Amino acid sequence: MPAASSDSTEPVTEARSYWQATAPAAPALPKLAGDRDVDVAIVGGGYTGLAAAEWLADAGKDCLVLEARSIGWGASGRNGGSATPRYKKGWATLAGSYGAEATRALHRELFAGIDSIQKRIARFDIACDFRRSGQATAAHGPAALDSLRADLDWLRRETGDSTPQLLDRDATASLLGTAAYPGAYYDPRGAFLHPLAYLRGWAAALAAQGLAIHAETPVTAEREEAGGVILETPGGRVRARTVIIATNAYTPEFFPGRLARRIVPVASSLIVTAPLSGEARARVLPTGAILADTRRLLSYACPLPDGRIMIGGRGDLTGRREDPASYARLEGILARLFPALAGTRIDYRWRGMVAVTLDAMPHLGRLGERHLFGLGYGGRGVVLAHSLGRMLGRMAAGETIEAGPFGAAHLAVIPLHGWRRPIMQLTAGYWGLRDRIEERARG
Ligand SMILES: Cc1cc2nc3c(=O)[nH]c(=O)nc-3n(C[C@H](O)[C@H](O)[C@H](O)COP(=O)(O)OP(=O)(O)OC[C@H]3O[C@@H](n4cnc5c(N)ncnc54)[C@H](O)[C@@H]3O)c2cc1C
Repeated sequence: MPAASSDSTEPVTEARSYWQATAPAAPALPKLAGDRDVDVAIVGGGYTGLAAAEWLADAGKDCLVLEARSIGWGASGRNGGSATPRYKKGWATLAGSYGAEATRALHRELFAGIDSIQKRIARFDIACDFRRSGQATAAHGPAALDSLRADLDWLRRETGDSTPQLLDRDATASLLGTAAYPGAYYDPRGAFLHPLAYLRGWAAALAAQGLAIHAETPVTAEREEAGGVILETPGGRVRARTVIIATNAYTPEFFPGRLARRIVPVASSLIVTAPLSGEARARVLPTGAILADTRRLLSYACPLPDGRIMIGGRGDLTGRREDPASYARLEGILARLFPALAGTRIDYRWRGMVAVTLDAMPHLGRLGERHLFGLGYGGRGVVLAHSLGRMLGRMAAGETIEAGPFGAAHLAVIPLHGWRRPIMQLTAGYWGLRDRIEERARG
C-alpha cells in the first residue's frame, strides 16, 4: 500500500484466510478515476467507514468512500466474527472509571449495536451466517471469576439486565466442551457472523443504492486549503469539506494530530482446523457458543458453520512479516482446551492488525476544523466500529455528539511510540506471567 501505515508489517503475499476462501465474490467497486468535490470523504472501507457512509447517505448527504485495497482487506474482513456482548473491561470496572450513568449508556450502545447489525443483515438480505451464538467469557482463575460475578451484580443492580448468567465449572464444561475453566459469564445475546461476507454484502447493497465506494484507491497524501482538504489518490484528487479518518490500525502517518501515534497497532492471529468428525463436533463447543477467556493475553474459540474450529489470540509482537511461532501458540491453545483435537490438521492461518489504546477503549473526535476520526477498538470492533462510525456520520453532518467514554480527551499521543515493539514484548511477557500465576491460584 503506497500510503504506509504506522506499522506496515503486512506480508507482501498474504495467507488466504478462511473468510476469503468461503465468502461470496467481492463486489465490483470502481477505482477513483478523475477529480471529485464532496462534502464528506471517508478514508477506509471497513465497518467504521461504511457505518459513517451509510448514515450520511441515508441522511441524503454528499459523501464517498476511498479504500486502499479491496473492501474487507483490513480488520473488518479478517476478524473472528464475534459480536461480543462485553467491553474489554468488565461492567463494574467501567463503572468505577466512568460512573454508573456513563456505563449504563455504554451498555445500551453495545446491545443496540448488535441489534442494528442484525437488522441491517435482514434489510439488505446479506448471506453471512449471522446467528445469536451466545458468548461465554471464561474465567482463567478464581479472581477473574469474582470479577465476572461483580459484573453480574452490577448489571442487575444498575441496569436491571439479568440476561447474562454465571456458570459453575460443570455448566461451563457442558456449554463449551472443555474442563479448562472454573466458571464463565454467559450471555446468549452474543452473535457470530462471517465478517467478510457481511462487509462485502453491505458494500454491494450501499453501492447499489448509489453510494460511491472506490476500492483500490489509496489516499497517498493530503493537504488543507481554504475551504477544504485535498486528498491525493493515484487516479484523481478529492476535495472534501470534511474528512472522516476510518483507517484504524492501518492509519497512515500523514494525517494531522499525529493520529497514528495515539494507537499501537498489534498483530492478532487466527487458525482454522480441518472439518471435525461428527463425534468431535458433538463434544467440542457443542452448543455453538463462542468462548473467549479473561486472560490479559486473551484467546478465543469459535465453531464454524462447516464443522471447523477457529482459534484466535495475540499475534507476533516483533513486527516480522511471518511468525510461525504465533500460529504454533494457537495450536497449543487448541490442544490445551480440547485435548482430543491435538494434532488436528490446520487448514488456514492468517492475521490482521488491531489498534490498541492505553485505556482499552475506542475513541472518536475532531482534529482541527476538517478532520474527524474513530479508532482504537482493540479486539472489540465488530460492534463498536459500527457505533463510532454512525457517530462520525452524525458529527460530519454537523450534530454535536455526547461521546462519553469514547471522547477523544483520553487519546493522547503515546510516549515512546517508536519503542513500542520492545515495550510490547516486555508487557506481553509480564501479562503472560500474571495470567499464569492467576490461573494456578485455584480457589
Ligand atoms: C485478527 C483479528 C481478529 C479480530 N476479532 C474480532 C472479534 O472477533 N470481535 C470483535 O469485536 N473485533 C475483532 N477484531 C477487531 C475488529 O475487526 C476491528 O476493530 C474493526 O474491524 C475495525 O474496523 P475499521 O473499519 O475501523 O478498520 P479496518 O477494517 O481495519 O479498515 C480500515 C481500512 O482502511 C484502509 N486504509 C488504510 N490506509 C488507507 C489509505 N491511505 N487510503 C485508503 N484506505 C486506507 C485499509 O485498507 C482498511 O481496509 C479483530 C481484529 C483482527 C485483526
